[in-house]
Amino acid sequence: MMSARAHRLGCTLLKCNFSYGTVRFQSASATPLARQLNAKIRVTGPLTVADYMKEVLVNPTAGYYPTKEAIGAKGDFVTSPEINQLFGEMIAVWILSEWQKVGAPKPMQLVEFGPGKGSLMSDILRVFKHFKIDGVSVHLVELSQKMRESQAKLLCSEATLGKNEEHQLQVVSGLTSTDYPISWHNHHSEVPRDAFSCIVAHEFFDALPVHKLRKTAEGWREILVDIDTESEDIKFRYILSREPTPISQLYKPKDCDTREDIEICPSAGALMQNLAQRFEEDGGFLLLADYGHDGDKTDTFRGFSNHQLHDPLLNPGTADLTADVDFGYLKRSVEGKALTFGPVTQEKFLNSLGIQVRLNILLQNDGLSAEQKAILKSGVEMMTDASKMGERFKFFSMFPNVLEEHLGKYPVLGFH
Ligand code: SAH
Repeated sequence: MMSARAHRLGCTLLKCNFSYGTVRFQSASATPLARQLNAKIRVTGPLTVADYMKEVLVNPTAGYYPTKEAIGAKGDFVTSPEINQLFGEMIAVWILSEWQKVGAPKPMQLVEFGPGKGSLMSDILRVFKHFKIDGVSVHLVELSQKMRESQAKLLCSEATLGKNEEHQLQVVSGLTSTDYPISWHNHHSEVPRDAFSCIVAHEFFDALPVHKLRKTAEGWREILVDIDTESEDIKFRYILSREPTPISQLYKPKDCDTREDIEICPSAGALMQNLAQRFEEDGGFLLLADYGHDGDKTDTFRGFSNHQLHDPLLNPGTADLTADVDFGYLKRSVEGKALTFGPVTQEKFLNSLGIQVRLNILLQNDGLSAEQKAILKSGVEMMTDASKMGERFKFFSMFPNVLEEHLGKYPVLGFH
């Protein structure tokens, strides 16, 4: 099962490794998105940080993911699925193990949120094909047309994809080169109902928009993005809302929370609740992997450009924006509605799934050169070493309540 793409790592700087000492400031010439946001703020007033982040990341004409080469050595950051195939293989093993544990219900919908270049899904499907798993349809939730094209090129035989009148690729549905029906969706609610869903989300939740709140003498207030009117160029700045906003009223932390600044991601909470309901009605589970904390961090909103930290308010649309996932909040949003497990560290998760055993098998493959073997080895070390990605990246999962007794007897792989 060794793919030709044994090594994808071009650069070792990851989005989770940051120190504000290295923020890179760029020239102030206005980007197309800066002009759009400038006009919008002039008409409707300051934006919440969440509205700003959403526009920057997914605005269809000028946003980051729809227009930029985000992932890889030539992009702005590198992710685990791009490092080597073993990451996706371990995820495939986890999905198959949990799916078989509940009786291998068919049809199965294999769903990925924010699939990037499609590498993770490609590695998962290779394992599915190897084990001759049938009755599976693939569903990719992806807003960016540019990303959809990369995914389709990697995953599909082009002839099965639609073309418009100008013969441009229409990435809506087709057949993967591993022979599974595949379709793309803009939003998770478009993924068909009435079927068991195995959902994976790798570095997706950190791209969901966060609101920022600050504790003041008058109570919690929301941080907003405004135009700096003293600058001749288009320049953005943070301001503090004078009055409470709906978010600062609805989501203010409990009095016992000693933090002065918090980030809150209502769209992540809503997504978890929707999935909990889907799992209860149709069956399914979620595996989420991302960097994050358990509700104790304060200010993690940051930008990345060309593998360096980037001021989030500079040149919007040219850099990735991200915030650490608050696993504590995710757990609370589905309390009583679903079972959650984790977060556990990537080191623990991948090791308990047997990544080292799989690596040793590959290292005995005579068809691989010494260089390929060294690359595989360093890739696994990169993903599992606590000082690299092993500690900062976490795995988290969600199952329907009905499985409580079953999972008590047969614990979820990687989380016990
Ligand atoms: N999972 C991939 C890519 C992570 S980057 C990997 O780990 O390599 C984030 C991905 O989510 C990109 O594909 C981006 O286009 C997509 N994305 C970001 N926000 C989204 C949203 N609101 N809805 C759907 N897709 C989104």
